[in-house]
Amino acid sequence: MTVYSGPVFDMAVKQFEVIANYLSIPEDARTRLLMPKRAVTVSCPIHRDDGTTAVFEGYRVQHHLTLGPTKGGTRFATSVDLGEVAALAIWMSWKCALVGLPYGGAKGGVCVDPASLSKRELEALSRRYMQEMIPFVGPHTDVMAPDMGTNEQVMAWFMDTYSMYQGKTVTEIVTGKPVSAGGTLGRREATGRGVAHMTRRVMNDRGINVNHATAVVQGFGNVGSIAALELHNMGVKVIAVSDHTGALYRAAGLDIPELALHAATHGSIAGYSNELALDPKEIFTLPCDVIVPAAMERVIDATVAANLRCRIIAEGANGPTTPEADLVLTQRQDEIFLIPDILCNSGGVIVSYFEWVQDLQQLFWEEEEVVQREYRILDRAFDRMVARARQDKVFNRTAAMAIGVKRVQGAKNTRGLFP
Ligand code: NAD
Repeated sequence: MTVYSGPVFDMAVKQFEVIANYLSIPEDARTRLLMPKRAVTVSCPIHRDDGTTAVFEGYRVQHHLTLGPTKGGTRFATSVDLGEVAALAIWMSWKCALVGLPYGGAKGGVCVDPASLSKRELEALSRRYMQEMIPFVGPHTDVMAPDMGTNEQVMAWFMDTYSMYQGKTVTEIVTGKPVSAGGTLGRREATGRGVAHMTRRVMNDRGINVNHATAVVQGFGNVGSIAALELHNMGVKVIAVSDHTGALYRAAGLDIPELALHAATHGSIAGYSNELALDPKEIFTLPCDVIVPAAMERVIDATVAANLRCRIIAEGANGPTTPEADLVLTQRQDEIFLIPDILCNSGGVIVSYFEWVQDLQQLFWEEEEVVQREYRILDRAFDRMVARARQDKVFNRTAAMAIGVKRVQGAKNTRGLFP
């Protein structure tokens, strides 16, 4: 019996079983590796603008503290529940271990539609959530970051709330803050930039000419819009994008800088153009070189996987591809190259790590240094994954997860049962 449930948690368990079997991890070590160290559920009451009181449920799951503090984003979305948060915390652990960061995984969230809140209500909820978490987080215990539905401003409120309780400024309690509040240059762009960088590597390796390549991006928030912009700046034609309001398509390539400006001003791609509107269901069936899912989990299931007409999947989102879809992808003759989420979107946590290090030392780097170091870590992890996949003739996700799981297992074996 476990308190964790739901389709996203089941997916994290299934993925782990594949890796545990591949690594021949003994049965009695599996539960210890997989199950989170702790989970916190809190109620966050706020005053609404109309004078009523509303209560929102919030969660934080810390997967393991074996390699250092836990690290992970905070999601504000109506999908958030304990199972989803636990799955995302587990994935963060494999991700941090794969790229060699001194962290375990964590994740948190509040079940709320942030678009339904005024700015004042969002601030009240953000501050209340952090206040409830104060006993459980800390710069050397658990460090939060942004995720779906949260942004730099929310991180600034988190940091300020924590700091007020400590009686001093503690910038290192969260990452993804605005540069004006102790954030690092290059963090806001880090995840999308990493997605585009990994995509370019695969295109180069596979002999795909960047200037003739086409891409489709699902999700046009922090990750999707930056990935699209970076790909566009490289010379790739981004022919379609979608968000929760709809989709847009232009065979000759969309004007991504203009669209990004529109989305930043209006909060979505809605209202940009009626002529370019596309049924969002068609987004994954368009012929293209690269598909970037950058919105949410489980959008590529077995049926979608069977109908993809791309050469590369660059997973910007966490968990966009189901284990059933993975199976279809491994059986397809055309060998679509998968850049798995724990590698592809790890630029975000890599630069979050840089932000934490800079805050601890109060010594700040130039953006160029941030970006170069990010790419170096990504390239190293990419090389390790590809070598492992080739050597053992396994799927890229299996290779990447195995490297991460093995590192956590090694640390647990040498440290003992306590952390
Ligand atoms: P965000 O809130 O900035 O953007 C999410 C985007 O997804 C929005 O454009 C939204 O409209 C769109 N979306 C929501 N539902 C959709 C649907 N049904 N169809 C199409 N689009 C839809 O969030 P984000 O920070 O960009 O995160 C996106 C994904 O990337 C999440 O899976 C998140 O966990 C993952 N991720 C984010 C970071 C980060 O640094 N922000 C790092 C690693 C992974």
